[in-house]
Amino acid sequence: MGKLDGRHALVTGGGTGIGRAIAVALMAEGARVTVTGRRAAALAGVEGALAVTMDVTDEASVLAGVAKARARHGPVQICVANAGIAEGASLAKTDAQLWRRIMATNLDGAFHTIRACVPGMEDWGRVIAVASIAGLKGLKGASAYTASKHGMIGLIRGLAADNLGRGVTFNALCPGYVDTDIVTENTARIMARTGMSQADAQGVMVGQNPHRKLIDPEEVAGAALWLCSDAARSVNGQAIQISGGEY
Ligand code: NDP
Repeated sequence: MGKLDGRHALVTGGGTGIGRAIAVALMAEGARVTVTGRRAAALAGVEGALAVTMDVTDEASVLAGVAKARARHGPVQICVANAGIAEGASLAKTDAQLWRRIMATNLDGAFHTIRACVPGMEDWGRVIAVASIAGLKGLKGASAYTASKHGMIGLIRGLAADNLGRGVTFNALCPGYVDTDIVTENTARIMARTGMSQADAQGVMVGQNPHRKLIDPEEVAGAALWLCSDAARSVNGQAIQISGGEY
């Protein structure tokens, strides 16, 4: 028997990287998991999960996606708002379109997802936003991303304050650099911009984690699993770092 037997978890961006690791970890504890994202092919690779395509930037798409998930597995009890994009740019290069794309995905996307899922949580629920260490400090060269992640943590803290004593908790996870497609894409961008080798370009990100290692998606999943456990029932409104030692 898993600790989450019968619970319904919905993980946005659940087809890849951190979201996928969280989905797999939740299934291993017996949860019925819905994974969502825009690419059906990525979602299809998560064996055992219900795949629902939806775009978190579009509220109607999120409402339709959550309704599909609910029709199969009942109300969502664990909501993991993980979908996100990481595009770093200087202020001069952050035009209004880039700003809006980052906000629409990271911040509006978390809001749409959480707002669609929370009404199904009665006396028990877990809302987890995958924010970033950039939600707690300024990330050089990525002010829009930093603002979006600070916003996600603000949303979580406000919701925790609004929902005290209901058995529903709201927390954020704040990873440092994690070994996923985001790091691969950033590595390619740094190589294109600077002419660095792949190892050196990746080293720029590795060097920003205090322990000088990339973090595994499973490490973030472990923290998510703990937040879903009964032991974490009094942990609410927190921004938990998985960063290799940032403080
Ligand atoms: P991935 O690129 O693997 O995951 C991002 C996921 O978000 C993809 O599955 C993608 O699916 C989904 N997504 C993006 N845009 C949308 C959209 N508009 N609608 C629906 N889904 C969308 O990278 P990670 O696993 O690393 O990223 C997951 C989260 O972790 C992000 O919020 C990121 O900011 C955060 N994070 C990552 C860190 C890292 O170093 N990797 C560090 C700190 C935080 P699809 O494209 O199919 O829609």
